[in-house]
Amino acid sequence: MLLAFDIGGTKVACARVEGGVIRERRQYPMAYEPAGFAEVIDQLTAGWAAPSRVAVCTTGYIDGGRVHSVNLDIIRFWDGFALAEMLQARFACPVDLINDGQAAGWGEYVARRARGLAPANLLFMTLSTGVGGGLVLDHRLRRGPHGLAAHVGHAGVRLMALDGVTACGCGRSGCLEMIASGTALARQAGALFGRPVSSAELFALAATELRAERIIVHAAQAVAEAIAGFHMIVDLQEVVIGGSVGLASGMLERIRAALHDMPLRAAPLLSAACQGGDAGLTGVIALDNERQEK
Ligand SMILES: [Zn+2]
Repeated sequence: MLLAFDIGGTKVACARVEGGVIRERRQYPMAYEPAGFAEVIDQLTAGWAAPSRVAVCTTGYIDGGRVHSVNLDIIRFWDGFALAEMLQARFACPVDLINDGQAAGWGEYVARRARGLAPANLLFMTLSTGVGGGLVLDHRLRRGPHGLAAHVGHAGVRLMALDGVTACGCGRSGCLEMIASGTALARQAGALFGRPVSSAELFALAATELRAERIIVHAAQAVAEAIAGFHMIVDLQEVVIGGSVGLASGMLERIRAALHDMPLRAAPLLSAACQGGDAGLTGVIALDNERQEK
C-alpha cells in the first residue's frame, strides 16, 4: 500500500492508495511546529495498515531529503526540516519527496498524455497562496539538481506591485509572487481599499469595481510577462494555469488577453488545470506507478 501526502502551507492531505487508485482520502490543517506536525501525521493515518512506501509532495524544495523554503515567511520550521528521515522513522519504509508544484505539473502532464495530447514541453503554474510550478521538458519532469526547477513565483518581472511593495520573502525583489499570488492580491487590495479584502472577495468586487479589476488585470499582465520570458528560454507548447487564483473567474482569460497583446513567437497554448485540488496527489501517485514499473 502506498501512503501519499500533499503538504501545503495551510493543509495536509493524505491518501491511502492501492493499485494506483485512491481508496481513502483525509485532510487536516497544517501545524506550525515539528511536534504538532508529527501529531497531524498520526491523526491522518490513524487506523490504516502500515504502508510499503510513502510518497510526498510538499511546499518548499527538496534537497538531500530535507525540505527548504524559498519564501521564509510561509512555515518557519519547514526550512531545513528532515522530512524524509522523520517519515522513514515513523513508517519504516522507503520515502520519496518532491515539490508540490512539480508533482502537480506532472499530474497535469499525465492527464493530457492519457488523452493522447501530451506536449513535449509543458509549464504548469499554480497561482495560489504563493506562486509555484512544474516544468516538463522533452516529456520528462524536471526537478533540478537542487530540487529548485520551476519555482516560477520567484522569477523577476518588470512590473511592480500596485502597493509599491517589492521585497519578497525569498530575499530578492520584483518577484512574480509579490504581484500575482493570492497573498499579494489581498495585500494590494487591502492597501487600496483600506480594509482586509481576500483574493476571493477581490474577484467578486471586480464585476462592479474598476479598481479591483485593475489589480487583477495587472497580476494577469505580470503572469503573461513571466510566461513570455520562460517561453523564450525553453520553447513551450502548453502553459497550464492552476491554483485558487489561477482558476478564479476570468483569470485565465485575462492572462490570455495579456499574452495576446505581446509580440510572442509561436505562442504556447494556454489552458486551465484539469486535476483540481488533488493535482499534487495525482502526480505523486503517477510518479510512484512509474517507479514500480521500473
Ligand atoms: Zn521571491
